[in-house]
Amino acid sequence: MTARFLVLGGGPAGATTAAMLARHGAAVTVVERTRMPRHHVGESLQPASLSLLDRHFGLGPTIAGMGFPRKYGAAYVWGETRDPWTVLFDAQLETDLPGLDEAALLAGPYEHSFNVERAPFDHLLLQEAARLGADVREDVEAESLIEEDGRVVGARILVDGVREDLRADFVVDASGQRCLVGRHFGLTRTVPDLRATATYAWFDGAGGFPGPLGRHVQWIVTVPDGWIWFIPIGPDRTSVGIVTRDRSRMDEARFDALLASSGLPLEHARAVPGEGGGRLRFARDWSFSHTSLTGDGWMLVGDAAAFVDPILSGGVDFAIRGGCQAALALLRAYGEERADRASLLATYEADVASDYKAYLRLARYWYGNNRSVEGFFWEAHREIPPHAVSTPYRAFVYLTTGKLAADRHVRLFQDWQERKMFRALGVDADAVQRAARAARQEG
Ligand SMILES: Cc1cc2nc3c(=O)[nH]c(=O)nc-3n(C[C@H](O)[C@H](O)[C@H](O)COP(=O)(O)OP(=O)(O)OC[C@H]3O[C@@H](n4cnc5c(N)ncnc54)[C@H](O)[C@@H]3O)c2cc1C
Repeated sequence: MTARFLVLGGGPAGATTAAMLARHGAAVTVVERTRMPRHHVGESLQPASLSLLDRHFGLGPTIAGMGFPRKYGAAYVWGETRDPWTVLFDAQLETDLPGLDEAALLAGPYEHSFNVERAPFDHLLLQEAARLGADVREDVEAESLIEEDGRVVGARILVDGVREDLRADFVVDASGQRCLVGRHFGLTRTVPDLRATATYAWFDGAGGFPGPLGRHVQWIVTVPDGWIWFIPIGPDRTSVGIVTRDRSRMDEARFDALLASSGLPLEHARAVPGEGGGRLRFARDWSFSHTSLTGDGWMLVGDAAAFVDPILSGGVDFAIRGGCQAALALLRAYGEERADRASLLATYEADVASDYKAYLRLARYWYGNNRSVEGFFWEAHREIPPHAVSTPYRAFVYLTTGKLAADRHVRLFQDWQERKMFRALGVDADAVQRAARAARQEG
């Protein structure tokens, strides 16, 4: 493939896009403003994107060996009841859990993801892109876009204080909440009712959820002002954050008071100093999207495309899957298939927009008053074809673990692989696929 791609940002979205492009023979450069490993909020991962990382790059064993706590699901104190309720990734675990202790849980074949410290996790993904042949440039900031006749043809970058023009056939914006391209074209739209601020800290010595799940779930608890996340990210380390509708930063006294009222197991916990010595960190938590996700010479991926409130912990999943989807669209558009570029970009945009809207609807429902636990599950069920899942509870899991969208991506990927194979054999791929569809319908 002769086309050259430029990816702006080396977080999960940019690294995955670049890794997949490079893995399939494309020339790609990534510019990342920081030097990895760098700190990032957003530590609780979903299983579907981890299985994509394994499928496309074989990263499953490496991630499993990094010492992160397994996550079998999430526990909530939310809704009409104060009784904790859990969402388990593995349907079999619903039956087995009451009879398990922690050792049996960990030894069992149950589906899980991980809660991770983002610095080493994100670093691994960017290193993978470089290993596969991407030209990864850290400490390099994209300052602005280069346009010619209305088409984006590259970016002006800053390297050691010196400006340079980097040209490309196509630019992928993965700059996270900086939204370099979206802001350049004035396309960014915030969601007014989902604007919040997160204040968080890391603790050593915290406990875990009662019973065998212990430190193997993400725990979410409402407090009068908002909600708290409790995410074990290491054997002894826990990320704890409070999300409120405040526009200003929370002070330490209020943070401590809310944690003390939450009932979370923090009695023996010690706060870990962050950068600069203070223990609190802050993140803006405003949901937003863009009026277009693709354009002439560019596309948006991950947070740079859209972001939905973190209550469902879908951001990294959205970023990794988005990277896979974006790269697949580009490989088909610029590869030997020479498929119709406009329609491939339109499909990418439609898929990402529909995932975003499903999450947004669910997040809005979540924040409504007096919602019952069953209500959350039924709301998720509305987003899923009825034949795809057995119960509203499983529909909730299918949607929020990213599996619904990942399955769609895998079908597209397999279709592309099949077509490549048929082309190599000199066989008419359309005719074979038509015949296979007809045979399936008859059968
Ligand atoms: C409070 C809060 C809690 C969250 N909790 C979770 C959670 O539990 N689970 C979850 O999955 N998600 C969570 N998220 C969301 C998650 O953090 C993001 O969705 C995820 O990091 C998106 O990945 P990305 O690659 O798109 O962007 P990022 O991870 O932000 O990566 C973008 C990269 O681009 C680089 N960059 C930016 N500008 C430039 C530039 N001009 N030039 C070059 N490089 C640039 C940045 O340095 C950065 O490395 C949370 C978010 C918030 C705000």
